[in-house]
Amino acid sequence: MTQTDDCIFCKIINHEIPSTKMYETENVYAFADLNPQAKVHALVVPKTHVKDVTELADKDPQLLAEMIRVAHTIAQETYNGQFRAVFNTGEDAGQTVFHCHMHVMTGEKLEGE
Ligand code: IMP
Repeated sequence: MTQTDDCIFCKIINHEIPSTKMYETENVYAFADLNPQAKVHALVVPKTHVKDVTELADKDPQLLAEMIRVAHTIAQETYNGQFRAVFNTGEDAGQTVFHCHMHVMTGEKLEGE
């Protein structure tokens, strides 16, 4: 598994920084966002370090599909299976951590689009 030393999400995956685990597979880790925007707000990340979802889609589309399945499982375990998924991709889009992550919001009926 490729990891970088200075990446906060790699450190979370390695348990060097604590997190509230929500789900895990061989290739994917999901944990609670520190600043939740919904009743349930998970961050679903590939264990391998890629900077964003476009890089992941190019390098490993099956892993991207696995992340979607993990999101669905979290939504089924915490709500009715429905969820919102957001990938901030690039600084101008609000990405602050440059390890690919999917925001998964669920646990309630969500406002907005
Ligand atoms: P971004 O803005 O799309 O890059 O999302 C980064 C997310 O990571 C934000 O929603 C932060 O609240 C979240 N975050 C940053 N550090 C931690 C942490 O140590 N644990 C859990 N979530 C974090």
